Amino acid sequence: MNTLFTYANICPLCNQEKISLICSPRIEKDIYFQKLNIRNEKKVYSGWYFCKSCEGAFNNIRLTNKGMLKMYSSSITSMDNKNALERFKTISELNKNESETFLKSNWFVSNSSVFNSKNLNFLDFGCGMGIFQWYLKNYFSKTKLFAYGIDPSKDYIECCKKKIKGKFMCGSDEKLNFFSDSFFDLISSITVLEHLLDPYLNLVNLRKKLSTNGELWIEVPSIKNFEILSADHDNFRCQHLFMHSENSIEKLLSKVGFVIKEFSHKKSIRGKFMLKLIAKTKN
Ligand SMILES: [Zn+2]
Repeated sequence: MNTLFTYANICPLCNQEKISLICSPRIEKDIYFQKLNIRNEKKVYSGWYFCKSCEGAFNNIRLTNKGMLKMYSSSITSMDNKNALERFKTISELNKNESETFLKSNWFVSNSSVFNSKNLNFLDFGCGMGIFQWYLKNYFSKTKLFAYGIDPSKDYIECCKKKIKGKFMCGSDEKLNFFSDSFFDLISSITVLEHLLDPYLNLVNLRKKLSTNGELWIEVPSIKNFEILSADHDNFRCQHLFMHSENSIEKLLSKVGFVIKEFSHKKSIRGKFMLKLIAKTKN
């Protein structure tokens, strides 16, 4: 038995059994399995299942806590030749209209009711190499943004510390304990929830740290990608545990105590359907 992953036979988000297979990626094409150094390829099967109850889709392969540590202790893209600083440089030098991060920043800022209204304590949870906050600070912010970031990858956090003025911590939910409740005016979770073993608990933890009128910005890949991308696309590999529909993300957020204020469900310039939303706590 491999200790890095296990299988899910029921929906891990809502624990229901009414599921149907919608996609079967070939495991030998999964570069993240190579990163995890899992060799017993023949015995491993990968499948995405639609859950009729919550209307999301889950990967039957689920990393264990040990698998998560191995996957994310260094950046997920560390298999590339480029290190985090070089990747940061490439992305930050892109023409604005070719930069997905610029375009998504623009959507969030345009639809936000707190951004640029006052100085903000801003946490990017799963900040990666910090490119999202960097764009917001450099191109959009007219008020002071006090930047905070949490990410499990050491090399990403080192990159953030070099590139952005702020406080950056290597870790996960446990790092939220460093902040008092209601500390943040803005929390972003950009392509993070689909990687987490327990997105519900993560959102509960984030909600505690968000101020009463604060905003939560979320982006996750959409379930619509099953209609347009091949089964072996990067989107369906074992780093992703869940794909959301409009209904499934709404149900999840509502259960945590959030209400969605703004919503976008469009194809990005890289050709992937993404769900973007701004949520506030229910009062
Ligand atoms: Zn479900």
